[in-house]
Amino acid sequence: MSNIVAIVGRPNVGKSTLYNRLTETRKAIVDDMSGVTRDRHYGVAEWIGRNFTVIDTGGYVHGSDDVFESAIREQVIIAIEEATALLFVVDVTTGITDLDDDIAQMLRRSKKPVFVVVNKVDNTSLNADASIFYSLGLGEIYNISSMTGSGTGELLDDVVKTFDEDVVEENTLPKYAIVGRPNVGKSSIINAFIGEQRNIVTPIAGTTRDSIHIHYNRYGHEFMLVDTAGLRKKTKVKENIEFYSVMRTIKALEEADVVILMIDAVEGIESQDINIFHLAEKNKKGIVIVVNKWDLIEKNTKTVKVFEEQIREKIAPFTDVPIIFTSVVEKQRILKVIETAEQVYNNRAKKIPTSKLNDVLLPVIEAMPPPSTKGKYVKIKYITQIKGVAPMFAFFCNLPQYIKEPYMRFLENKLRENFDFEGVPIQLFFRQK
Ligand code: GDP
Ligand code: GDP
Repeated sequence: MSNIVAIVGRPNVGKSTLYNRLTETRKAIVDDMSGVTRDRHYGVAEWIGRNFTVIDTGGYVHGSDDVFESAIREQVIIAIEEATALLFVVDVTTGITDLDDDIAQMLRRSKKPVFVVVNKVDNTSLNADASIFYSLGLGEIYNISSMTGSGTGELLDDVVKTFDEDVVEENTLPKYAIVGRPNVGKSSIINAFIGEQRNIVTPIAGTTRDSIHIHYNRYGHEFMLVDTAGLRKKTKVKENIEFYSVMRTIKALEEADVVILMIDAVEGIESQDINIFHLAEKNKKGIVIVVNKWDLIEKNTKTVKVFEEQIREKIAPFTDVPIIFTSVVEKQRILKVIETAEQVYNNRAKKIPTSKLNDVLLPVIEAMPPPSTKGKYVKIKYITQIKGVAPMFAFFCNLPQYIKEPYMRFLENKLRENFDFEGVPIQLFFRQK
């Protein structure tokens, strides 16, 4: 179930500061390690056990003042259509401006939950000034300071109440989403999969109302494709094309079990691709990387290896991901994409019996125990897989706080070596016993 919270509002009210605050708990070490420029405007946040995606609309408007206001208006419309809830940020130090009024008018017509977030209320003496924002006619106001974080807890308590319940769907088919930048070949591969069967497009109960799933059942494979390519919509403002496609990508990704990330062989992997990769990783989705337009590349015996290495370097540290080289126009390895997605789906659903886990891992741990910290030795007693949509493992030990990142990586690698989890993010927890 996808829950997207869009932060809207005019410039300088503090949208990106709020965005940073909401996503900071998960500030990805991975991003720093792979040297990705932090130009992301969407990310995963968590509040009382609920994960959701936050998108900062402000990040998508560049350009001169005249495109600016119309771009912002259009973004609000897109956000109203696509988001689960909207945070309308206003600034207590400036009061209500004309653009605030315009935005409020659009939001009043929306049926989505809207939260008026009065920002820069850095101390209680400003509370009285904030009450003017009741006149926007959008109900309750939430006084916060994005800078200090005060008030954000109360806000999030109410925001998560608007989310759909995390329902576990029973007996559903695997869901795959094909994502990637414009022109990589998403529509082409979908057409290659389904041929003339486009008429079997069916909206499925329990999914977001406007998402379309394609039922595929051929050559012994049956699954649902979460279709985004077919849902492209015209935007009037050029700056919003990326914003719109990012929204759709997030949505498709959140509804899928396995994300098929398509990359253009000629252009190579770019920061946008890496952002999508990390979003899939953080959402614990299965991942398959498809390098398409392989026909356009001049190849020798080393080309595949060089490409693979370049990609793995950029997506590190989670590199245990299948990479397939396709040509949709020459119909090369298209079925392999489906087979690999299915394999990844099965890996993600895999349950390792506790006895098997312990038989394999305890001797490995004995041979290479966690290094001592401050003269103390960690003793791992047993391991068990925790129930969940994606693989999670609990390591019971005497001093969980002394297990450090490198040893966690070591254990994760051992899990991956012994039990195939290719394409699947896995989580390790260390618990007191
Ligand atoms: P955006 O254009 O809406 O994304 O706004 P920014 O997040 O870039 O913030 C605009 C300015 O307001 C920056 O100088 C921030 O440091 C400042 N700002 C943001 N939040 C707060 C806050 O809670 N209190 C105060 N005093 N300043 C803030
Ligand atoms: P989308 O925007 O990701 O849906 O991309 P499209 O499926 O619309 O493809 C964009 C362009 O790339 C079209 O002109 C396709 O014919 C072309 N294309 C797609 N796959 C391949 C491929 O494997 N090789 C080559 N040479 N062109 C391709």
